[in-house]
Amino acid sequence: MDYNSKLAELQREGNYRQLSSVTPQGKWVLSGNNTLLNLSSNDYLGLANDPELRRDFEDWVGEEVYPLSAGSSRLLVGNYPVHRLVEGQVGRLFGREGCLVFGSGYHANVGILPALVDRGALVLADRFVHASIIDGIRLGGARYVRYRHQDYDQVEGILAREASRYSRIFIVTESLFSMDGDITDLPRLVALKRQYPHVMLYVDEAHAFGCRGARGLGIAEEQGCLQEIDLLVGTFGKALASMGAFVVCSSLLRAYLINRARPFIFSTALPPYQMAWTSFLLDRLESWGDRRAHLSRLSHLLAHALHGEQPSAQVSHIVPWILGDNASCIQASQRLCEAGYYCLPIRTPTVPAGTARIRFSLSAAMREADLFNLLSLLKTTSYADR
Ligand code: PMP
Repeated sequence: MDYNSKLAELQREGNYRQLSSVTPQGKWVLSGNNTLLNLSSNDYLGLANDPELRRDFEDWVGEEVYPLSAGSSRLLVGNYPVHRLVEGQVGRLFGREGCLVFGSGYHANVGILPALVDRGALVLADRFVHASIIDGIRLGGARYVRYRHQDYDQVEGILAREASRYSRIFIVTESLFSMDGDITDLPRLVALKRQYPHVMLYVDEAHAFGCRGARGLGIAEEQGCLQEIDLLVGTFGKALASMGAFVVCSSLLRAYLINRARPFIFSTALPPYQMAWTSFLLDRLESWGDRRAHLSRLSHLLAHALHGEQPSAQVSHIVPWILGDNASCIQASQRLCEAGYYCLPIRTPTVPAGTARIRFSLSAAMREADLFNLLSLLKTTSYADR
């Protein structure tokens, strides 16, 4: 492969990626002499740079020494009491017996399916699931179908025709889609699952954990089906402002993953200090209902400016503005930057060709006033393609 010409091709397509030189600071990013509102972060609750929270954490840590490195995988000597503490906390929050922490959401998604599938399995995955899930599906090597986005009738049809041919079937979806911000009808998938004893539901709540549900547990909590999800993945690196991920499941599956999930087995455990921060935050998760309510208000304001009236249940803190081709998306992003809003273009292959977009990602640290200018910009036809 000729790397130079491949990179030149990416440049021609508007797909060339570069690391940015801006510095995030709270809800802002600093870019040279400019301060822009950060609409590209996953720090949805606005916790990552909260100085008071940080001071409280330092007091909470007190004289306790949490190492800055775990020194090895959990299966060697990297399994500290604080790892077990966090798994216990998550398990209790979700009312589930099994919880296993992974180094990141990527590790979790790339490890879980390959551990659990064999040649007799079928994986049915929403076409828009995250790259880490796709990689996990491919690594697993079982037959898979990527069903049309949120097309539950298609899932039903496939199950009716093919369920009897497989020893196990996994339905895999995100609950709040990372690039579209729309919400999965989990009870509908639960109802399908109930018709087939060998169907399991695998739900990635990366973008919902912390933000949705009265206790902040995500969409399965909001939709009242927490106990029906066989494998529920959440990440600590987005709304929870830490790092790492977890899966909640049965204790049987937990034991199986400890034995078979390669990213869990063969990677250094998260640093105990990081786990202490996660534990401190998890203790407070349920109390941040006001932040969640504020985030929801901001989401409705922005979604309304861009898309008009929408069913409330479909509105989230991720608001896409689909522009089509990469070039117009890059141009819109630049113009918004000039107006003081840092929102990066999302291009192919992250999203399907022809659906390049600005993905507005909101944070509870923002105030309504921070968005006023943006809302009026988006309401003018030169910006919003409506
Ligand atoms: N799942 C989804 C839906 C994601 O969007 C992401 C990251 N953007 C991940 C998993 C990976 O999580 P992490 O960043 O913790 O690796």
